[in-house]
Amino acid sequence: TSTPRCALRTEGLTKDFRGFRAVSSVDLEVAEGTVHALVGPNGAGKTTLFNLLTGFLRPSSGRIRVFGDDVTGMAPERITRHGVARSFQITSLFENLTPREHVEIALQGLTNQGLRFWRSEKLLGRRREEVDRLLAEVGLTELADRPTGLMAYGQKRALELALVLAVEPKLLLLDEPTAGMGIEDVDRTIELVRRIAAGRTVVFVDHNMHVVGQLADRVTVLQQGAVLAEGPYDEVRADARVITAYLGE
Ligand code: ADP
Repeated sequence: TSTPRCALRTEGLTKDFRGFRAVSSVDLEVAEGTVHALVGPNGAGKTTLFNLLTGFLRPSSGRIRVFGDDVTGMAPERITRHGVARSFQITSLFENLTPREHVEIALQGLTNQGLRFWRSEKLLGRRREEVDRLLAEVGLTELADRPTGLMAYGQKRALELALVLAVEPKLLLLDEPTAGMGIEDVDRTIELVRRIAAGRTVVFVDHNMHVVGQLADRVTVLQQGAVLAEGPYDEVRADARVITAYLGE
């Protein structure tokens, strides 16, 4: 078997905010096809790192490579074209629209940006199939034509994932996929992310160590912007420095 490619690699990635170093010389390596968790106490730099990876912020120094291509300093739309997509923690859905309408609008937006291929009426049938496929992938087929406002919180989060998947990402960045969820939704989301991760690379932030242990092939622990530890979950969890960092929060 050949060595898997690097889906994501950062070298010395650093972000300063007027003299304050929020991300400090981070070297990250995520192999293609794996699930990688990013954890750390509040203020550790996780959100800033995500913003650097998606081009919402420009690094002060260091490089970012996606599937071998240098995307350092690129605008978010250009990074999207390299197969990177991100989910947000905030709910950005319209209560009166159905899940199907949300996905259709997302696909139309991508077509307008030249990111997807539906430009003619002829292809609308294919687009309808694509909408069905995306809704099925996140388990929302039954709810496809009911107002989103009637759905439970976990179902709304699943719809947000469908909207991210519409981009056809190869590298998926998930910001706290289980935030604010009860145990049942957490377990459902673990299953969902596992399914989504098949054939893709996933980097996610989550505070729930159960979720991290269930999903992550490898874990990077950030503290004060720098990498404190990196490795398989069991190894990282047993690391004395990691335990201290969390207890010291
Ligand atoms: P996390 O997501 O791990 O909680 P953040 O990336 O949000 O951490 O924040 C890391 C540090 O950077 C925090 O101390 C935060 O106050 C600081 N920070 C984040 N964004 C900015 C900004 N735009 N300007 C100044 N400081 C910021």
